[in-house]
Amino acid sequence: MQSAVKAMLAIVVIAFVAELLIMLALPFFGHVHEDSLSFMLIDATVLALVIAPPIYWLVFSPIRRESEKRHQAESEAEEMSRVAITDPLTRIMNRRGITVGLLDAMAQAERYRTPLTVAMVDIDHFKDINDHYGHEAGDRVLKNVAAILSDALRMPDKVGRYGGEEFLIVLPHTNLAQGSKIVERIRASVSKKIFDQGAKKAHVTISVGVTQFKPGEDLEQLMSQADKAMYDAKKGGRNLVVARKSR
Ligand code: GH3
Ligand code: MG
Ligand code: MG
Repeated sequence: MQSAVKAMLAIVVIAFVAELLIMLALPFFGHVHEDSLSFMLIDATVLALVIAPPIYWLVFSPIRRESEKRHQAESEAEEMSRVAITDPLTRIMNRRGITVGLLDAMAQAERYRTPLTVAMVDIDHFKDINDHYGHEAGDRVLKNVAAILSDALRMPDKVGRYGGEEFLIVLPHTNLAQGSKIVERIRASVSKKIFDQGAKKAHVTISVGVTQFKPGEDLEQLMSQADKAMYDAKKGGRNLVVARKSR
């Protein structure tokens, strides 16, 4: 409604300015107007008030409704694409979202020759958490770990849930040594976190494989390096970060 009032006021002002211009132009065409300014003002306002509502309803209102509809359709489409790349449990990106993010980061690193490091995170013995505390408790642990990971990262870093209890971290402009330090801090904070499961308190740990993108490498090769490093961390006893230089 506010915009309707604004549109009508605009029409009043336009009508008044138009009338003023006509009045000022009349002497140039040999006419001398006798109206006083106050008469002209009343004249223009009455005229505008009579023509403003039909002009508004005929012209502006359909345009506004059309643009509102377009905005609504755009925000619905945005919401749909956000949902399509969000993991419903943890509210971080899902595998599709983080893969798109990683492909984009790889293209940037390739083009500008900037370092890019990725880390594959896997919760240790997660099956035991489900078995001991129940599936819902397991879900709460997943949510908490996802929150620890995303809170520890800053733009333009990204994190997504890659699989059941696996997360992928993408660290643009970060080399292997820097990336290893970042994920080591994350590993330590997960291991210190106490997960309240009613009367029981649970601890979880993560194993992390880190690797730096090598120009020319494709997604499959990069992910295979990160996976291998993560399995080395499992073999090394878990609750560990293993960095693997690309071939
Ligand atoms: P490891 O240290 O070798 O990684 O052992 P793990 O038990 O973590 O690995 P494993 O692959 O044997 O088990 C993964 C478990 O994760 C099994 C599966 O039921 C559980 N899981 C996967 N997705 C979800 C989920 O969304 N919620 C819950 N609660 N559990 C899940
Ligand atoms: Mg796993
Ligand atoms: Mg696991």
